[in-house]
Amino acid sequence: MKILFLGSAGGRRITFRQHRASGGFLVASHDTCIHIDPGPGALVRLIQAGVDPACIDLIVLSHRHMDHCADINAVIEARTMGGWLSKAAVAAPRDAIEGDDPVIFKYHRRHLERLEVLGEGSTHETGSLKVTAALKHTHHGVETYGIIVESEKCRLGYITDGRYTPEMGSAYSGCDILIINTTFRNPRDLDHLCLQDAASILKEARPKLGVITHFGAEIIYWGAKKAAEWVEEASGVRTVAAREFTQIEAAPCITISRVKMVNPLGIAYTENLAPWGKTRISLKRSS
Ligand SMILES: [Zn+2]
Repeated sequence: MKILFLGSAGGRRITFRQHRASGGFLVASHDTCIHIDPGPGALVRLIQAGVDPACIDLIVLSHRHMDHCADINAVIEARTMGGWLSKAAVAAPRDAIEGDDPVIFKYHRRHLERLEVLGEGSTHETGSLKVTAALKHTHHGVETYGIIVESEKCRLGYITDGRYTPEMGSAYSGCDILIINTTFRNPRDLDHLCLQDAASILKEARPKLGVITHFGAEIIYWGAKKAAEWVEEASGVRTVAAREFTQIEAAPCITISRVKMVNPLGIAYTENLAPWGKTRISLKRSS
Protein backbone atom coordinates (compact mmCIF):
# COMPACT_ATOMS: atom_id res chain seq x y z
CA MET A 1 0.00 0.00 0.00
CA LYS A 2 1.13 3.53 -0.63
CA ILE A 3 -0.29 6.90 0.33
CA LEU A 4 0.12 10.25 -1.42
CA PHE A 5 -0.91 13.45 0.34
CA LEU A 6 -2.16 16.20 -1.96
CA GLY A 7 -2.26 18.68 0.90
CA SER A 8 -2.19 19.09 4.67
CA ALA A 9 -4.30 22.19 5.30
CA GLY A 10 -7.05 22.30 7.92
CA GLY A 11 -8.94 25.16 9.49
CA ARG A 12 -10.32 28.20 7.74
CA ARG A 13 -7.24 30.41 7.57
CA ILE A 14 -4.83 27.73 6.38
CA THR A 15 -7.21 26.10 3.86
CA PHE A 16 -8.99 29.09 2.38
CA ARG A 17 -5.87 31.24 2.06
CA GLN A 18 -3.93 28.14 0.91
CA HIS A 19 -1.07 28.67 3.37
CA ARG A 20 -0.82 24.92 2.94
CA ALA A 21 -2.17 22.96 -0.01
CA SER A 22 -5.37 20.94 0.43
CA GLY A 23 -7.04 18.18 -1.57
CA GLY A 24 -7.03 15.03 0.57
CA PHE A 25 -4.90 11.99 -0.15
CA LEU A 26 -4.65 8.95 -2.39
CA VAL A 27 -4.28 5.34 -1.24
CA ALA A 28 -3.17 2.68 -3.71
CA SER A 29 -2.46 -1.01 -3.67
CA HIS A 30 -1.61 -3.10 -6.74
CA ASP A 31 -4.00 -1.88 -9.44
CA THR A 32 -6.46 -0.04 -7.18
CA CYS A 33 -6.49 3.65 -6.22
CA ILE A 34 -8.77 5.54 -3.82
CA HIS A 35 -9.02 9.32 -3.35
CA ILE A 36 -10.15 10.36 0.13
CA ASP A 37 -11.57 13.84 0.87
CA PRO A 38 -10.93 15.76 -2.39
CA GLY A 39 -10.99 19.23 -0.84
CA PRO A 40 -10.15 22.57 -2.51
CA GLY A 41 -7.47 22.24 -5.19
CA ALA A 42 -7.53 18.43 -5.35
CA LEU A 43 -7.64 18.36 -9.16
CA VAL A 44 -4.82 20.90 -9.47
CA ARG A 45 -2.65 18.98 -7.00
CA LEU A 46 -3.25 15.70 -8.86
CA ILE A 47 -2.05 17.28 -12.10
CA GLN A 48 0.90 18.99 -10.39
CA ALA A 49 1.97 15.64 -8.93
CA GLY A 50 1.72 14.11 -12.42
CA VAL A 51 -1.12 11.78 -11.43
CA ASP A 52 -3.74 10.86 -14.03
CA PRO A 53 -7.18 11.29 -12.37
CA ALA A 54 -8.36 8.40 -14.58
CA CYS A 55 -6.55 6.01 -12.20
CA ILE A 56 -8.97 6.72 -9.33
CA ASP A 57 -11.32 3.77 -8.72
CA LEU A 58 -13.22 5.10 -5.71
CA ILE A 59 -13.68 8.55 -4.18
CA VAL A 60 -14.49 8.57 -0.46
CA LEU A 61 -15.85 11.49 1.56
CA SER A 62 -15.48 11.42 5.34
CA HIS A 63 -17.96 14.33 5.62
CA ARG A 64 -19.48 17.13 3.60
CA HIS A 65 -17.46 20.12 4.84
CA MET A 66 -16.00 22.25 2.07
CA ASP A 67 -12.36 21.58 3.04
CA HIS A 68 -13.05 17.86 2.40
CA CYS A 69 -15.39 17.89 -0.60
CA ALA A 70 -14.96 21.13 -2.58
CA ASP A 71 -13.40 19.39 -5.59
CA ILE A 72 -15.47 16.20 -5.65
CA ASN A 73 -17.38 17.14 -8.80
CA ALA A 74 -14.19 18.35 -10.53
CA VAL A 75 -12.46 15.07 -9.67
CA ILE A 76 -15.44 13.01 -10.96
CA GLU A 77 -15.36 15.06 -14.18
CA ALA A 78 -11.59 14.56 -14.54
CA ARG A 79 -11.75 10.89 -13.61
CA THR A 80 -14.38 10.13 -16.27
CA MET A 81 -13.48 12.89 -18.76
CA GLY A 82 -17.06 14.03 -18.64
CA GLY A 83 -18.39 10.49 -19.13
CA TRP A 84 -16.04 9.40 -21.93
CA LEU A 85 -13.98 7.06 -19.77
CA SER A 86 -15.34 4.21 -17.63
CA LYS A 87 -17.69 5.19 -14.83
CA ALA A 88 -16.41 6.08 -11.36
CA ALA A 89 -17.53 5.12 -7.83
CA VAL A 90 -18.16 7.30 -4.78
CA ALA A 91 -18.87 6.48 -1.12
CA ALA A 92 -20.16 9.36 0.99
CA PRO A 93 -22.34 9.95 4.07
CA ARG A 94 -26.06 10.21 3.44
CA ASP A 95 -26.22 13.95 4.17
CA ALA A 96 -23.64 14.56 1.41
CA ILE A 97 -25.86 12.78 -1.11
CA GLU A 98 -29.44 13.51 -0.11
CA GLY A 99 -31.48 16.47 1.09
CA ASP A 100 -31.80 20.01 -0.27
CA ASP A 101 -28.11 20.66 -0.60
CA PRO A 102 -26.21 17.57 -1.81
CA VAL A 103 -22.52 18.12 -2.52
CA ILE A 104 -22.39 15.72 -5.47
CA PHE A 105 -24.15 17.32 -8.43
CA LYS A 106 -26.95 15.31 -10.04
CA TYR A 107 -25.29 15.88 -13.41
CA HIS A 108 -22.14 14.06 -12.24
CA ARG A 109 -24.08 11.11 -10.82
CA ARG A 110 -24.62 10.00 -14.42
CA HIS A 111 -20.89 9.34 -14.57
CA LEU A 112 -20.96 7.03 -11.54
CA GLU A 113 -21.46 3.30 -11.64
CA ARG A 114 -21.81 3.26 -7.85
CA LEU A 115 -22.85 5.93 -5.35
CA GLU A 116 -22.68 4.19 -1.99
CA VAL A 117 -23.86 5.48 1.38
CA LEU A 118 -21.12 5.56 3.99
CA GLY A 119 -22.61 4.73 7.39
CA GLU A 120 -21.12 3.38 10.61
CA GLY A 121 -19.71 -0.10 9.87
CA SER A 122 -20.43 0.07 6.13
CA THR A 123 -17.84 -1.52 3.85
CA HIS A 124 -16.95 -0.50 0.31
CA GLU A 125 -14.76 -2.78 -1.76
CA THR A 126 -12.92 -1.84 -4.89
CA GLY A 127 -10.21 -3.98 -6.48
CA SER A 128 -7.65 -4.91 -3.85
CA LEU A 129 -8.78 -2.33 -1.27
CA LYS A 130 -11.57 -2.43 1.28
CA VAL A 131 -12.89 0.72 2.95
CA THR A 132 -14.79 0.55 6.25
CA ALA A 133 -16.53 3.44 8.00
CA ALA A 134 -14.98 2.62 11.36
CA LEU A 135 -16.39 5.19 13.78
CA LYS A 136 -19.01 7.93 13.73
CA HIS A 137 -17.62 11.26 14.92
CA THR A 138 -19.27 14.23 16.57
CA HIS A 139 -18.47 17.08 14.21
CA HIS A 140 -20.47 20.30 13.89
CA GLY A 141 -23.76 18.54 13.14
CA VAL A 142 -22.71 16.82 9.90
CA GLU A 143 -22.47 13.07 9.39
CA THR A 144 -18.79 12.26 9.80
CA TYR A 145 -16.94 8.93 9.77
CA GLY A 146 -13.42 7.83 10.52
CA ILE A 147 -12.22 5.32 7.96
CA ILE A 148 -10.10 2.17 7.73
CA VAL A 149 -8.60 1.12 4.39
CA GLU A 150 -7.28 -2.43 4.14
CA SER A 151 -5.15 -4.16 1.56
CA GLU A 152 -3.91 -7.71 1.77
CA LYS A 153 -0.85 -6.64 3.75
CA CYS A 154 -1.64 -3.28 5.32
CA ARG A 155 -4.26 -1.56 7.41
CA LEU A 156 -4.53 2.23 7.27
CA GLY A 157 -6.65 4.26 9.68
CA TYR A 158 -7.88 7.77 8.95
CA ILE A 159 -9.28 9.77 11.85
CA THR A 160 -10.96 12.69 10.20
CA ASP A 161 -12.31 15.82 11.92
CA GLY A 162 -14.24 15.33 15.14
CA ARG A 163 -14.43 15.79 18.89
CA TYR A 164 -12.08 13.52 20.85
CA THR A 165 -13.64 10.41 22.37
CA PRO A 166 -11.74 7.68 24.25
CA GLU A 167 -12.92 4.99 21.78
CA MET A 168 -10.88 6.61 18.99
CA GLY A 169 -7.78 4.74 20.20
CA SER A 170 -9.34 1.28 20.37
CA ALA A 171 -11.29 1.70 17.10
CA TYR A 172 -8.02 2.00 15.19
CA SER A 173 -5.88 -0.53 17.06
CA GLY A 174 -4.30 -2.96 14.62
CA CYS A 175 -3.67 -0.26 12.03
CA ASP A 176 -0.15 -0.16 10.59
CA ILE A 177 -0.42 3.52 9.75
CA LEU A 178 -2.78 6.00 11.38
CA ILE A 179 -3.53 9.42 9.85
CA ILE A 180 -4.99 11.90 12.33
CA ASN A 181 -6.54 15.25 11.43
CA THR A 182 -4.92 17.38 14.11
CA THR A 183 -6.20 20.91 13.73
CA PHE A 184 -5.26 22.55 17.04
CA ARG A 185 -2.03 22.78 19.00
CA ASN A 186 -3.82 23.25 22.33
CA PRO A 187 -7.10 21.70 23.57
CA ARG A 188 -10.21 23.72 22.74
CA ASP A 189 -13.83 22.96 23.43
CA LEU A 190 -14.57 22.38 19.71
CA ASP A 191 -15.23 19.38 17.46
CA HIS A 192 -11.60 19.07 16.32
CA LEU A 193 -8.57 17.21 17.63
CA CYS A 194 -5.46 18.75 19.21
CA LEU A 195 -1.92 17.44 19.68
CA GLN A 196 -2.74 15.92 23.10
CA ASP A 197 -5.72 14.05 21.55
CA ALA A 198 -3.49 12.71 18.76
CA ALA A 199 -0.95 11.51 21.34
CA SER A 200 -3.65 9.80 23.44
CA ILE A 201 -5.05 8.03 20.36
CA LEU A 202 -1.61 6.85 19.19
CA LYS A 203 -0.68 5.65 22.69
CA GLU A 204 -3.64 3.30 22.64
CA ALA A 205 -3.82 2.34 18.94
CA ARG A 206 -0.03 1.72 18.69
CA PRO A 207 0.39 1.87 14.89
CA LYS A 208 3.87 1.56 13.36
CA LEU A 209 3.53 5.15 12.13
CA GLY A 210 1.35 8.08 13.09
CA VAL A 211 0.79 10.87 10.55
CA ILE A 212 -0.65 14.19 11.63
CA THR A 213 -2.24 16.49 9.03
CA HIS A 214 -5.12 18.96 8.48
CA PHE A 215 -3.28 21.67 10.38
CA GLY A 216 -4.88 24.86 11.61
CA ALA A 217 -3.05 28.18 12.04
CA GLU A 218 -1.78 27.45 15.58
CA ILE A 219 0.19 24.44 14.38
CA ILE A 220 1.44 25.97 11.12
CA TYR A 221 2.78 29.09 12.89
CA TRP A 222 4.43 26.96 15.59
CA GLY A 223 5.79 24.42 13.10
CA ALA A 224 4.20 21.18 11.89
CA LYS A 225 7.48 19.30 12.27
CA LYS A 226 7.76 20.45 15.91
CA ALA A 227 4.15 19.36 16.43
CA ALA A 228 4.92 15.86 15.12
CA GLU A 229 7.98 15.64 17.40
CA TRP A 230 5.81 16.66 20.35
CA VAL A 231 3.23 13.96 19.54
CA GLU A 232 5.95 11.33 19.06
CA GLU A 233 7.51 12.19 22.43
CA ALA A 234 4.13 12.16 24.21
CA SER A 235 2.87 8.94 22.60
CA GLY A 236 6.02 6.88 22.08
CA VAL A 237 4.84 6.22 18.49
CA ARG A 238 6.91 7.33 15.48
CA THR A 239 5.04 10.36 14.10
CA VAL A 240 5.49 12.55 11.05
CA ALA A 241 3.71 15.67 9.78
CA ALA A 242 2.24 15.42 6.30
CA ARG A 243 2.64 18.10 3.67
CA GLU A 244 1.73 18.29 0.00
CA PHE A 245 3.15 15.41 -2.01
CA THR A 246 4.36 13.42 0.99
CA GLN A 247 4.39 9.79 -0.12
CA ILE A 248 4.40 6.88 2.32
CA GLU A 249 5.05 3.33 1.22
CA ALA A 250 4.03 0.67 3.70
CA ALA A 251 5.78 -2.43 2.43
CA PRO A 252 8.15 -4.14 2.88
CA CYS A 253 8.97 -1.47 5.47
CA ILE A 254 7.57 2.02 5.93
CA THR A 255 9.37 4.62 3.83
CA ILE A 256 8.56 8.31 3.60
CA SER A 257 9.51 10.43 0.60
CA ARG A 258 8.27 13.42 -1.35
CA VAL A 259 6.94 13.24 -4.89
CA LYS A 260 8.28 16.06 -7.09
CA MET A 261 5.88 18.65 -8.43
CA VAL A 262 6.19 17.92 -12.14
CA ASN A 263 3.52 20.19 -13.64
CA PRO A 264 3.38 23.47 -11.66
CA LEU A 265 1.05 25.15 -14.17
CA GLY A 266 -0.67 22.13 -15.68
CA ILE A 267 0.37 19.82 -18.50
CA ALA A 268 1.02 20.65 -22.13
CA TYR A 269 -1.92 19.79 -24.37
CA THR A 270 -0.03 16.98 -26.06
CA GLU A 271 1.29 15.37 -22.87
CA ASN A 272 -0.21 12.51 -20.93
CA LEU A 273 -0.20 11.95 -17.21
CA ALA A 274 0.94 8.78 -15.49
CA PRO A 275 -1.35 6.57 -13.43
CA TRP A 276 -0.32 6.48 -9.79
CA GLY A 277 -0.21 3.24 -7.87
CA LYS A 278 -1.48 1.12 -10.76
CA THR A 279 -0.33 -0.14 -14.10
CA ARG A 280 -3.46 -0.21 -16.21
CA ILE A 281 -6.28 2.27 -16.78
CA SER A 282 -9.62 1.26 -18.18
CA LEU A 283 -10.37 3.48 -21.14
CA LYS A 284 -13.76 2.00 -21.88
CA ARG A 285 -16.33 4.64 -22.77
CA SER A 286 -19.26 4.52 -20.36
CA SER A 287 -22.68 3.78 -21.80
ZN1 LIG B 1 -14.96 19.20 9.05
